[in-house]
Amino acid sequence: MSKEKLTVVYHDDYLNWLLGPGDGSHPTNPIRAKLATEMLVAQLRDDVEVIAPFSDSTVDADLGILKETHSEDYVVEVLEGISNQWNGTKPIMGETAFKMFRGTIRAVEKILSGVSKVAFNPQGAKHHAKTSSASGFCVFNDMAYAAKAFKNAGLRPLYLDWDIHAGDGVAHMLRGSGVPCISIHNGSTYPNDSWLQNSGTGELHHPAELNYNFNLRRGASDDEFKEAIDGARVIIDAYKPDVILLAAGADGHFGSSNLVELAKFTADGFTYAANMVAEMATKHADGRVLIGGAGGYQPLKETPETWALVVSTIYNQVRKGLVQNG
Ligand SMILES: [Zn+2]
Repeated sequence: MSKEKLTVVYHDDYLNWLLGPGDGSHPTNPIRAKLATEMLVAQLRDDVEVIAPFSDSTVDADLGILKETHSEDYVVEVLEGISNQWNGTKPIMGETAFKMFRGTIRAVEKILSGVSKVAFNPQGAKHHAKTSSASGFCVFNDMAYAAKAFKNAGLRPLYLDWDIHAGDGVAHMLRGSGVPCISIHNGSTYPNDSWLQNSGTGELHHPAELNYNFNLRRGASDDEFKEAIDGARVIIDAYKPDVILLAAGADGHFGSSNLVELAKFTADGFTYAANMVAEMATKHADGRVLIGGAGGYQPLKETPETWALVVSTIYNQVRKGLVQNG
């Protein structure tokens, strides 16, 4: 592993995604992806390879994958610029949503080919998107695609999601697929999905369907986050996945943001969580981790800092762990 680089999928075309008034004031301002990429390059230097999510030669194949993941009518509508995530017809937004999805295709390719153990798409893990509809700023469900791609390649993927909003789109799109889905989230806010959320706190698991949910109270601290991470560790350790998919949402971070503060996680909690993923990936998955940024509404500082912390911790700990394992 010592030679394998971290793959980060990024291109400035990701910046053509300005919701709301279109002036960057919306909490999903994609500058967060650019900043996180720059932080990772500054921290890890030659250990990072930044690649583009697209190339001319892959567009037809990528479009085919998108249409296998979502209904064709929905794909066509979005690429024409129509979605309930923005007002009016904006073809460039549809194209950007496709580019974000293509970023995860590239990350999966890097992992499957063995070029990288750890790959990160900061505009990936659009975890609320459904088969035929967008939801919660998410248009195309790249993690549902990725799980199926790994499974089709003969691996045992497992999906873990610690965005503060339940990973409903992935859970529903993977229902019946045999891929375990673990979500750590606020129990009583959007998306208000009764299969995953219990309007309060505590676990809501459906073990027969490999679906596991840790519902946190509003204002949850690092201690509660770590307790849920410990619960997730037990599930992951028992399942022994050979690739881990992570929706590394940073929107549980404390402090002011354009969304209501749902949790008060700090760098300590996120580091603990990242170390757990690295430990399980090293133990069971030969270090393979696919990371998508998911949500994060402090785009100028806390969100990119949290993503860079989580990704660099996983990368460094996996590398160390695999070297120790020989
Ligand atoms: Zn979220």
